[in-house]
Amino acid sequence: MPAEEIWDVIVVGAGNAALCAALSAAEQGAKVLVLEKATLEDRGGNSTFTAGGFRFCHDGIEDLRTDILDDMTPGEYDSIGNLPPLSEDDFMEILMRVTEHQADEDLANILIRQSRETMRWMRDHKIRFIPMFGRQSFKIEGKHHFYGGVNIEAVGGGWGLVDMLVQACERMGIAIRYETALRELIQDKSGHVTGVRAFGLDGYEDVHGKAVVLACGGFESNPEMRVRYLGEGWDLCRVRGTQHNTGDGINAALGIGARPHGGWSSCHAVQWDISAPPYGDRVILDNFQKHSYPIGVVVNMDGKRFIDEGADYRNHTYAKYGKEVMKQPGRAAVQIFDAKTHDNVRDEYRIREVTKGSSDTLAGLAEELDIDAEGLKAEIEAYNAACQEGEYNPSVLDGVRTKGLAVPKSNWALPIDTPPYHGYVVTCGITFTFGGLMIDTDARVLDLAQRVIPGLYAAGELVGGLFYQNYPGGTGLLNGSVFGRLAGKNAGQLAAA
Ligand SMILES: Cc1cc2nc3c(=O)[nH]c(=O)nc-3n(C[C@H](O)[C@H](O)[C@H](O)COP(=O)(O)OP(=O)(O)OC[C@H]3O[C@@H](n4cnc5c(N)ncnc54)[C@H](O)[C@@H]3O)c2cc1C
Repeated sequence: MPAEEIWDVIVVGAGNAALCAALSAAEQGAKVLVLEKATLEDRGGNSTFTAGGFRFCHDGIEDLRTDILDDMTPGEYDSIGNLPPLSEDDFMEILMRVTEHQADEDLANILIRQSRETMRWMRDHKIRFIPMFGRQSFKIEGKHHFYGGVNIEAVGGGWGLVDMLVQACERMGIAIRYETALRELIQDKSGHVTGVRAFGLDGYEDVHGKAVVLACGGFESNPEMRVRYLGEGWDLCRVRGTQHNTGDGINAALGIGARPHGGWSSCHAVQWDISAPPYGDRVILDNFQKHSYPIGVVVNMDGKRFIDEGADYRNHTYAKYGKEVMKQPGRAAVQIFDAKTHDNVRDEYRIREVTKGSSDTLAGLAEELDIDAEGLKAEIEAYNAACQEGEYNPSVLDGVRTKGLAVPKSNWALPIDTPPYHGYVVTCGITFTFGGLMIDTDARVLDLAQRVIPGLYAAGELVGGLFYQNYPGGTGLLNGSVFGRLAGKNAGQLAAA
């Protein structure tokens, strides 16, 4: 390929946000090149490691059947007892509530209002979806009752999603170059971004384009940046996904005077098996997560509870509880279930690679898992004594709570009193970082004076402003799809002008 070739749109990254941007730019007639740092085998970024779950607005199962779940089988349809709608107001309320009302309202409005049409647009590109039968429903009288606002996933999870997106890109004639990493952005004298300096298999190369879309992830895989922005100890967490999201796009843009935005001191981090490897495992994927804590209790190695396990649906608390585990001695905790609830834990608890212990007594469990036995005994006795009567129902906020504890459990608070007892040892696994670049409502990157940097767009994890402290489950992929589509469209139109 001649070095002087000028692409219409260069997209950096090949995860969900980038591939949506590439598709959208190509729809504008643009000649699109995708640059991806990873090898072909390692492609897809964090998007590959996901369950493929999307949170978006809809009016319930009949609405979804028209154009999102249009290939669902009659048997699947019949097995659904309830799949609640999600309104724009409810989505906004939960986004604002979990981010402590910090989310950028302009970005939030785009995210939410364009969510439904973006899903339909993905379906038009032959991305297939199904209800999350396994993870987001409880069976009541043989029927699936969904909960928590994120109920639809891509067929084949994150792997399937990336695969279907790459196939869609191939159909649109989009070129993807692997093992080629963005190092710097190139600008002309006026400040217009005219390409990228990349490092690939043949060394450095200047790749020229009329517009560039950055969609190459946050800085969760960069221990130096984690400590710099998230604080002491964050070099020691596990990374749940790709090793490649080292903040390159953010740093390249900051290097030309882009404006930082969003929750730079916070991130999405979960309870993650303590024996998990340093970065995501492409076979186990997200199964190292342990997300059934709302129906159990979580103690540290001193035996003390430290979070309200039942504060809300797991979709609204899981992303902030990894950070709480980080604060505990040894950065470790144990999730405990008794025989009453253990049958209802999610599939991820049943993998071979799990750090668990079981015993007919709490003392036996403490010994097996190295928890302080006296501390655990006192804590569970106090917890059991504080549990109030009520009608337990794990698919709704049932209000079955404790009374009088310094650390309450606000829903699903059943006593831990029926052996055998099962404990799962977790640490903190970071998912992605919240701080990033400032964009406007056209997904154009802004400079330090909040002026548009011409020719530069951004989408996905590396955009700041939507998430602070916490995050509503299923919003990361939607964020990449909505803003990737927007960035690609506008970049394509700029290139055509
Ligand atoms: C285990 C796990 C489970 C998750 N589950 C869900 C879920 O079910 N639903 C949900 O909504 N979200 C989920 N998330 C969050 C979700 O993965 C992210 O929010 C989303 O995938 C981010 O998409 P992205 O395209 O911005 O980044 P990515 O998908 O990470 O893509 C970034 C790409 O850029 C590439 N790259 C990095 N640096 C460079 C460079 N210098 N040059 C070129 N390329 C570069 C990377 O290799 C990568 O391919 C999960 C995350 C993890 C880790």
